[in-house]
Amino acid sequence: MCVFCKINQKEIPSYQIYEDEYVNVIMDINPSQNGHLLVIPKKHHDDFYTLDDYLSKHINKVAKEMVDLLKRSLNSDGFTILHNYGITQEVKHFHLHIIPSNEKKQELEEVENIHKKIRSVL
Ligand code: AMP
Repeated sequence: MCVFCKINQKEIPSYQIYEDEYVNVIMDINPSQNGHLLVIPKKHHDDFYTLDDYLSKHINKVAKEMVDLLKRSLNSDGFTILHNYGITQEVKHFHLHIIPSNEKKQELEEVENIHKKIRSVL
């Protein structure tokens, strides 16, 4: 079973931000910026080719909600929203990265602290 399937099934821990019937949103364990999130479908899909339209649309909807959440919790000013594919994709279970930016450069903080800050506005 892949690492994100194990996280989805709570076999290994994660810093969870949001969950519904179709997706799980967790903090990236090795963030590029504070508040780096991953939107992960619950069902295993190797990559974006096998996502059906409903799921793609849902992932997009959740991504917008997460952007709003990061604006509210971390005052993020901009976002990079991407997925890797092929040799650039390390974990072969589709996931959308949401990477916030701030106008003022910020030092990377412990994922646990950022998790608390984001959860505090939920
Ligand atoms: P990529 O597949 O290249 O889009 O990147 C995989 C991402 O998953 C990287 O940013 C990793 O830091 C992240 N990652 C890998 N394992 C975990 C984990 N157990 N919990 C949270 N994030 C993870």
